[in-house]
Amino acid sequence: MNSRTLLVGGLSSTHDALVAAALRGRGIAAEPVGTADQGSLAIGRKLLARGHCNPTYYLSGALVERLRRSAAPGRYAYLTIGSCGPCRFATYAAEHRRALAAAGFSEVPVVVVDQLRPTATVELGSVGVTLDGRLISDLARAAVVGDVLVRAGCWHRARTGEAVAVDRALAKALGDATSALEEGHSPTPALTMLGDTLGALGGAPEKPRLRLRLTGEFFAATTDGHGSYGLVRWLEGRGAAVEPPAVVEWLCYLAWQLRRDTERRLPLYRPDSGPRGLAGRDGPRVVRHARGAERALCALYGRYAAAVGVGWPLLDMDDLAVLAAPHYLPDLRAGMGHLEVATFLAMNRDRRADLVVSIKPFGCLPSSAVSDAVLAVLARQARHCGFVAVETTGDAEATVESRLELALDLAAKGTRSRPTTSLSGFAAN
Ligand code: SF4
Repeated sequence: MNSRTLLVGGLSSTHDALVAAALRGRGIAAEPVGTADQGSLAIGRKLLARGHCNPTYYLSGALVERLRRSAAPGRYAYLTIGSCGPCRFATYAAEHRRALAAAGFSEVPVVVVDQLRPTATVELGSVGVTLDGRLISDLARAAVVGDVLVRAGCWHRARTGEAVAVDRALAKALGDATSALEEGHSPTPALTMLGDTLGALGGAPEKPRLRLRLTGEFFAATTDGHGSYGLVRWLEGRGAAVEPPAVVEWLCYLAWQLRRDTERRLPLYRPDSGPRGLAGRDGPRVVRHARGAERALCALYGRYAAAVGVGWPLLDMDDLAVLAAPHYLPDLRAGMGHLEVATFLAMNRDRRADLVVSIKPFGCLPSSAVSDAVLAVLARQARHCGFVAVETTGDAEATVESRLELALDLAAKGTRSRPTTSLSGFAAN
């Protein structure tokens, strides 16, 4: 019988707490690993070779920090999402193992859920995880609740001017939702209560000075730790209403990939093998399931967002693919793929944001080298939305902030001086 406690991390502190609770709700001992900070980065850099994407250092460092604080590190295992590529995300699990070995924790296993094929494996079974449909659905629900809580904070802080009261209500809702998930109950009552509390807040509703959409590389755009330079709060402190990305949009993107890749294979003369191949699989059924998963996620998000009064709908994956296609092939896969380009185009078309801020680790190939290059051109042609890209190195925060100050100022002045700029990191990882 497994007696290990799973450590989970890599999303925001809100999401990590909810994901751990969803695992506990299925009888699996689990805890958040803790938010990665400057100390984590330093530890990760010390233990690993240079040249990795900085999430590798942040996440490995946070894991080692957590184990060093434990009296019995051998009772833990690290549960993470992995992929076979094509960008350096494929190396994360191996680097986490390397960091653990270098720190003297080689007895702690790193167990990976393949994001392209999340199925039960012997490895997962060895730490007590049976990855069945119910657990996947519980984890997805936890991610949706996390998105709605994070977005509720951004939405209501910007519109009520009551940041302290909003944060207090969110902390209570997170506790209630966490308890509900670990007891196997619905989080809806916690969200409804949060919606009532936020709806009753006083303050003077004002139109935010600037509406910003945050996008970029998954870790940098999602974490609320130092890996994002605390960008959301920093931007809010300058009067902006920030729309953060939703983890569920990433889940929808994964389901959309499966649907698209399968649909394109259906007319093949003979089913092919390989990770997406249809040999031994019922293609139309895969398509139906993928589409059903997208719809279920969107419906769940819509219900929870309505309960807490969040007015940002999820982006539609088919719409994003059509928008991006003339500029960035939706079949190119790495990092966020075409989503950054398409998100900017959607924000500009729908006049949903005045400025799109794309944050990514220094040297992120799909984001810095590809998306930013395309967006530099598109943003010059855009009429309603500016664009600024920033790279995180872990130690260039002041430079990033000064560039953002400039972009905010330009965006506030209107369309004729829309910022279309990018900032490269000045230090290698
Ligand atoms: S998306 Fe960018 S930062 Fe993330 S692993 Fe890939 S190359 Fe590295």
